[in-house]
Amino acid sequence: MKNKEFIPVSKPVFIGNEKIYVNNCLDSTWISSNGEYIERLERKFAEYIGIKHAIACSNGTAALHLALLAIGIGRGDEVIVPALTFVATANAVEYTGAKPVFADCQDDTWNIDPHKVEKLITSRTKAIVVVPLYGHPCEMDSLVKLSRKNNIYLIEDAAEAIGAIYRGRKCGSIADLSTFSFYGNKTITTGEGGMVVTNNDGLHKKVRLFKTQGMDPNRRYWFTTVGYNYRMTNIQAAIGLAQMENVDKFIEKRRQIAESYRANLFGIPGLTLPVERDDCTHSYWMYSVLFENEFGADRDAAIKTLYDHGVETRPFFYPMHIMPVHKQNSHADLKLSEKISSKGINLPTFFELKEKQIKYISQIIRELNSK
Ligand SMILES: *Cc1c(COP(=O)(O)O)cnc(C)c1O
Repeated sequence: MKNKEFIPVSKPVFIGNEKIYVNNCLDSTWISSNGEYIERLERKFAEYIGIKHAIACSNGTAALHLALLAIGIGRGDEVIVPALTFVATANAVEYTGAKPVFADCQDDTWNIDPHKVEKLITSRTKAIVVVPLYGHPCEMDSLVKLSRKNNIYLIEDAAEAIGAIYRGRKCGSIADLSTFSFYGNKTITTGEGGMVVTNNDGLHKKVRLFKTQGMDPNRRYWFTTVGYNYRMTNIQAAIGLAQMENVDKFIEKRRQIAESYRANLFGIPGLTLPVERDDCTHSYWMYSVLFENEFGADRDAAIKTLYDHGVETRPFFYPMHIMPVHKQNSHADLKLSEKISSKGINLPTFFELKEKQIKYISQIIRELNSK
């Protein structure tokens, strides 16, 4: 069953107005961070998420940094983040001088566990950042309750969860502030890009202030705080707007891909498929499986065999606390994050992935787990 064609783990798709809008930028010379597409993207994005304000910025990490700056996080503060996430979540906390405190995950969703978060809250805790990992929503009602009870902010790093739904509300519409990434492998892309969203007028103003060097919005070249240049360009926004015009189609396709993987991978001993809880709609940024079979292949062998058959996959993120850069004196039990991290892989998940490719990938996995 050798297949010469290489199947990447992800791949962007441009089937809409991307070229037309980018050419409009060039023709009009509005290629920098002013221009109609920034506002049009922000408005469209806010409407899609179901939120009042959306602020475009240079990438998803900058979006997180802006969200933390807006709520005044700084030296001496603690911010609870999941151990199992992409490093940007923890890095953004470090940029502010605050300390990230790592929380363990749930067994089924692989997301931050509200019960474990509660045990980590101290008098220094100022915020919780939650991450709907690979597109499955977090348990937001419990997390909102926890943050209200302790008078701390809740931020959702929804970089992987555009289009995901929790109890009738889109991911990104529930926390005090939420952030998105439009990196090339994300569900919609602008090359590099990000978005901060909020319903809070005051936080909205602060995000814009920090995004544009800290300039007083009513007085040009008068700076009231040390800000950053985290702007998005009109060209990026032009691509983003065209992508947003197709976002529903992108999500629907990812859900079909997940259905197909599930049908083809169901019942393989020791292979754990991703759950979708009853009150959630998964956005399947990445269809992911765990190799837990003591008889079949282990995770790293699976990655290698798939690669030898022309299929690119990715191991799960390392948990933050095992890497020297984010290692710290946390006594929290993070065993579940360690276990899931060591067993999981992301399978190819992108718009143009074909049914026969899913069957091909699934067949390799089936053979691997029946040795
Ligand atoms: C992609 C991603 C980000 C931010 O990514 P950028 O490359 O800075 O746009 C942040 N958090 C998570 C969980 C991500 O997956």
